[in-house]
Amino acid sequence: MSTETETVAARRANFRADAEKWLALNVPDEWRKNRGALDEEQETRIRWEWDRQLHAGGFAGLSLPVEYGGQGLGLREEVLFGELAARAQAPDSLGRIGKILTAPLLIAHGTEQQRATYLPAILSGEQVWCQGFSEPGSGSDLASVACFAQKVDGGYLVRGRKTWTSYSRQAERCLLLVRTDQDAPRYKNLSLLLLDMKAPGVSLSPIRQISGSAHFSETTFDDVFVSDEDRVGADGNGWAMAMAILSSERGAVEAVTRYVEIRADMTLLRDCCARAGEAVDRLQDLELRVELIRWQVSKAVAREEDEERMLGSVMVLKVLWSELWQELTSLAAKLSCSEHRDHWRYQYLESRAATIYSGTSEIQRNIVAERVLGLPK
Ligand SMILES: Cc1cc2nc3c(=O)[nH]c(=O)nc-3n(C[C@H](O)[C@H](O)[C@H](O)COP(=O)(O)OP(=O)(O)OC[C@H]3O[C@@H](n4cnc5c(N)ncnc54)[C@H](O)[C@@H]3O)c2cc1C
Repeated sequence: MSTETETVAARRANFRADAEKWLALNVPDEWRKNRGALDEEQETRIRWEWDRQLHAGGFAGLSLPVEYGGQGLGLREEVLFGELAARAQAPDSLGRIGKILTAPLLIAHGTEQQRATYLPAILSGEQVWCQGFSEPGSGSDLASVACFAQKVDGGYLVRGRKTWTSYSRQAERCLLLVRTDQDAPRYKNLSLLLLDMKAPGVSLSPIRQISGSAHFSETTFDDVFVSDEDRVGADGNGWAMAMAILSSERGAVEAVTRYVEIRADMTLLRDCCARAGEAVDRLQDLELRVELIRWQVSKAVAREEDEERMLGSVMVLKVLWSELWQELTSLAAKLSCSEHRDHWRYQYLESRAATIYSGTSEIQRNIVAERVLGLPK
């Protein structure tokens, strides 16, 4: 082993030991033991607090540069921390859109001013973000968005509607995909804005989900001003920005955060809810496939240097984790012990949406078929 490899291995071993110790001391008991019984307000409070704890403990923005409040480590540490968090049954971050979508976008395409303004607030847990892509008439076909931003002196006036906007009630900012040109051809008529959700003209109508939660809203913009400084990329270049965001949303870091939740559910089902000898084959199959997600993420990250190969490994993840989670919660709803019945009812209903958000399974399968396997359209 070369000295450099030994140094990297030692650094990772230290990181692992520190993270394990920190997680053992900091994961809130209220979450670990009682997650299924929490109401929406309690859940939001714990997840928000968790973001602050991560920051105070030095575990926020592991792969982001130190000058913006990150830890300057790599994607491998990000993934390793996710694996350890899964074992420790840690909460999911409330600021996940800011951390997983906005931060990499600003690092790759933002201005220095945007990075300096937003990244520290995202990583400290102060600022929650939402994503304003979908509209009543535009979901999978994102290029058809109609919410319009009219060019005015120094910025834009946004008017129109978005829907299914998760975290909109807590969010201070929105990654907003808008049409900025009514005449330019498709894919060249969009721009990506960083909109202030507290600005005059923004209104929300919460939408209640089948699980009983109202994690998202319909969001209306009535002449909301956004300055030119809050546009990412050039005017008319919003499609490329949206694609960058979607590749983070369907990528390795996102999949690890999903693994955290699915791993916790699998452990609960195996160790508590299923009675001895019950559904043994099904449980073994699910257990194996949960660990396959972890393995597939590690494989993708190991290919970090080769973007094409990495993408090939990443693109199957969204379908893998979302469909697996649905199978797991369906079985759990049948096997549940009386203590965890509410938890499984909630997770069963929540997991139904997983094959829709962040790209439906049909769309994801088309992408894998065309871009990874090279099959004809
Ligand atoms: C819980 C939840 C949270 C969400 N959070 C957000 C959010 O925060 N921000 C946001 O912007 N959006 C959010 N969404 C919206 C989500 O991104 C869209 O629902 C999704 O992109 C699908 O769009 P749609 O609902 O308009 O369905 P459609 O695009 O109308 O699709 C309907 C059906 O047709 C299929 N279909 C469509 N086109 C094709 C095709 N070309 N080939 C094969 N099949 C096709 C789809 O797979 C689907 O089964 C959320 C959705 C859910 C359920």
